[in-house]
Amino acid sequence: MPSKKPTPNSDKLDQIVAAARRERDQRELGYREQALKLYPWICGRCSREFTRANLHELTVHHRDHNHDNNPPDGSNWELLCLYCHDNEHARYLDEPVSGAAAGGKSEPAATHSPFANLKDLLKPRS
Ligand SMILES: [Zn+2]
Ligand SMILES: [Zn+2]
Repeated sequence: MPSKKPTPNSDKLDQIVAAARRERDQRELGYREQALKLYPWICGRCSREFTRANLHELTVHHRDHNHDNNPPDGSNWELLCLYCHDNEHARYLDEPVSGAAAGGKSEPAATHSPFANLKDLLKPRS
């Protein structure tokens, strides 16, 4: 018997359980767990602080809005409270993409303003 298995202490067991959980949740929650480990539990917008009690209100925002982009260094993650996260996405949807965001993806060039005919729509028909 050359190999003697070390008896796992409870610490090790915890790690194994945590790893198993991580694997199970990895697709959806993996990046959240990682982000919560990497960053202090504070909303990046309103600086609200979180504890285990209300941690479910702290969410992981993807800076480039691509949920498949999850670099392990956390550079694409930002912890935001539910409200600020909502705002962040509302802002993104409302505002036309500015030059800063135009980079990798080649979106069809905006030849006309998305709001060009808004005036017509708002104009009372008379
Ligand atoms: Zn917030
Ligand atoms: Zn987000």
